[in-house]
Amino acid sequence: MGALDGAARQKRLRVEVRSPEGRNGGLAAAPLPAPLHLLPSFLRYPHLSLRDKLRAVPALLRIRRERDWGRAELRAVSFEEWLRRNGQSDRAIANFWDLIVVPALNDASRDISAAMAFMLFRTALLCDAHGADVGYARSGLSDLMGDPIERRLRERGAEVLLGRTVRRILVEDGAVTGVALADGGALTADWCVSALPPHALSALLPDDLRAAPPFDAAGTHAYSPIVNLHVWYDRPVADFEWAAFVDSPLQFVFNKTRIAALPGPGDYLTVSLSAAWEWWPLSKEELRERFTAELARALPRARDAAIQRFIVVKEQRATFRSLPGGAGNRLPARTPLPNLLLAGDWTDTGWPATMEGAVRSGNAAAAIIVAAR
Ligand SMILES: Cc1cc2nc3c(=O)[nH]c(=O)nc-3n(C[C@H](O)[C@H](O)[C@H](O)COP(=O)(O)OP(=O)(O)OC[C@H]3O[C@@H](n4cnc5c(N)ncnc54)[C@H](O)[C@@H]3O)c2cc1C
Repeated sequence: MGALDGAARQKRLRVEVRSPEGRNGGLAAAPLPAPLHLLPSFLRYPHLSLRDKLRAVPALLRIRRERDWGRAELRAVSFEEWLRRNGQSDRAIANFWDLIVVPALNDASRDISAAMAFMLFRTALLCDAHGADVGYARSGLSDLMGDPIERRLRERGAEVLLGRTVRRILVEDGAVTGVALADGGALTADWCVSALPPHALSALLPDDLRAAPPFDAAGTHAYSPIVNLHVWYDRPVADFEWAAFVDSPLQFVFNKTRIAALPGPGDYLTVSLSAAWEWWPLSKEELRERFTAELARALPRARDAAIQRFIVVKEQRATFRSLPGGAGNRLPARTPLPNLLLAGDWTDTGWPATMEGAVRSGNAAAAIIVAAR
């Protein structure tokens, strides 16, 4: 889409991992084939004991050797249970396994199926030395992706209608004829690809389809929350673009002033809290008290800095969950209606709730139409 230049992309994975006590280290890829690329930094990683490291290596190798990671047994059990069976301690789960699982899957190991965690570790860390190179936006996502995608679609002759709400999917004689819009209009179509979230799709279907398989599974997803805290300081407080924190509720802290080269003089930080079950019910004042104290503990320069602004953004239904035993509601692209296809991160891509999963689902639906035509 011509958008890649707007994103920062690491040549090789490097995650700085800090503790509020000032112990800094990280995970970084060495120029070695996977999974050896992680070994040098893992051996130096300061947030695990030698004993925990020696126990983590065979567990990682077991995950790498597992060819059939989607099998029923691994779908049914939580990753935490699998980790404990494989000798992992509380500290290893908190300071290594969940350091990766929580931001990537928006749930902790106890709430993730072992199958999805295996997919994550194999794809990101164990089978491809560049699988976890981190990319992030230097501007907003609309600038980075939305506008270039829209431009490219128009150049290719597509009509892009934004801000139109679909009220109903119109079905006649077992096929889709189009959609009815909230503004009273309608669109006719030979093919219809729904890229709606599952609960939204469910609400737009005729009653008889909504209640019958496979569509009856579409409204049954559970979701995990994300809470983002935006904090503006009157002076520079963080010497990094972004960093992870262990032994702290901070999780990941992004320094937007550095990432987006904002004028300053102070730092604008975003604290990104995945699987934010504990933080979700708290008020803005409670979150401010708790987290500005934690930032002051972790970042010495924040102790004397004044906070100019503090904003909380809560997403209650941020991502669908990959709970143990719960994969049955991810539907395939094809539906019983021959010209209605499903896309969206929640469809049966094998991927967790990510932009990459969403893109793969769109490609799968498009491939079906292209083949049929
Ligand atoms: C706070 C947060 C942080 C995230 N961070 C990351 C990340 O770092 N990396 C990553 O890969 N993923 C991340 N995700 C997940 C990622 O955003 C999703 O996986 C992705 O957006 C899913 O894409 P989608 O197209 O399937 O669905 P969506 O992006 O949810 O798109 C569905 C669209 O349908 C529209 N819609 C709903 N009802 C109707 C209707 N009746 N008529 C017309 N339109 C309708 C909605 O407005 C929406 O635009 C994050 C999500 C959140 C909430």
